[in-house]
Amino acid sequence: MTDEEEPILRFRDDDQARALYDRIDALMDAIGEPVSLMHVCGSHEEAIAKYGLRANLPADLSVRMGPGCPVCVTDMPEIDEGIALAEAGVTVATFGDMFRVPGTEGSLRDAKREGASVEVVYSASDAVEYARANPEESVVFFATGFETTAAPTAAVLAADPPENFSVLSVHKYVPPAMEAIAELPETNIDGFLAAGHAAAITGYGLFEDLVEEHEIPTVVGGFEPLDVLRAIADLLEMIATDDPGLGNAYPRVVSEAGNVAAQETMWSVFEQTTRAWRGLGEIPSGNLEIRPAYAAHDAREQFDIDPDVGPVDPLAEQCLCGDIMAGTADPDDCTLFGTVCTPRDPVGPCMVSDEGTCNIWNRYGGRPEV
Ligand code: SF4
Ligand code: SF4
Repeated sequence: MTDEEEPILRFRDDDQARALYDRIDALMDAIGEPVSLMHVCGSHEEAIAKYGLRANLPADLSVRMGPGCPVCVTDMPEIDEGIALAEAGVTVATFGDMFRVPGTEGSLRDAKREGASVEVVYSASDAVEYARANPEESVVFFATGFETTAAPTAAVLAADPPENFSVLSVHKYVPPAMEAIAELPETNIDGFLAAGHAAAITGYGLFEDLVEEHEIPTVVGGFEPLDVLRAIADLLEMIATDDPGLGNAYPRVVSEAGNVAAQETMWSVFEQTTRAWRGLGEIPSGNLEIRPAYAAHDAREQFDIDPDVGPVDPLAEQCLCGDIMAGTADPDDCTLFGTVCTPRDPVGPCMVSDEGTCNIWNRYGGRPEV
């Protein structure tokens, strides 16, 4: 083992995993009834599926995926806005997975095939660099993602980008979506495993109101197998003792206050507004819109975006992504899963993104506990 491997392998230790599974079993016995937990991060689903964590969890403990993939929750009309811009002659810079997500009539990839200018970038900074290098083009960064990516987008906008650069913000803010899900009667969630990466920016203290208002246990978790198991055990402890609290099972990365400088930049550029999340509908204050002070770099202010779209593809209407993100369905409840809908030819967004539940389940052999 090299020095570089050791820190990671500490979080994959068999003995510690067995001890955590024993603790989880004992807590489930103490609770004495089925428990349903929801995580809100694609990377959590990846860890659970990749390391086969579900296989050893008690049968009456369900760990479901919520709206944890920013690609999956980007609404069709938002993708249509991006496509409309590309078709109007603007260069749209976007992340690779957004490139393939279907809007009402095709994806940005389809638009590129038909001659539109669409560039795949890895970050907001890459998009700005592209704009600087191509001053004759109008470049719009199609900005997707949660707090983790909204903060870098804000940093780029605050750093005086070139005139030919603007942002189409479809950034979303996770806590309001967790509140909306906590209020959905059909979801019936007993606790949230909150996303460690997002909480690294916002701090775990942010979830205090959610816990208090909804009396729902919430624990921030990391992405190594032991991180996930520890967070699950901590949640069960709160449920067993009927003491819904707020926990941090990822202290090596997440603090109570988070990255205050990043938060200040983010809130100086963005304000919370209400738009629809795909499959979940309107989430009050769940979107991050560019403040008027940055209107010169706000694509919605700079361009007249009016997508000309037709009816939704009947195949897309069968897609269960909305139910999956609300925690009321699993990918194999969808009749299209793995047959008509595959990563190569996705029908819905959950199959496109590496962080989408359908894509993850498909990659790890169908239902992960089998
Ligand atoms: S952006 Fe971060 S918190 Fe959100 S799904 Fe991806 S890894 Fe998880
Ligand atoms: S398998 Fe495809 S069509 Fe079915 S829910 Fe998943 S993404 Fe949607």
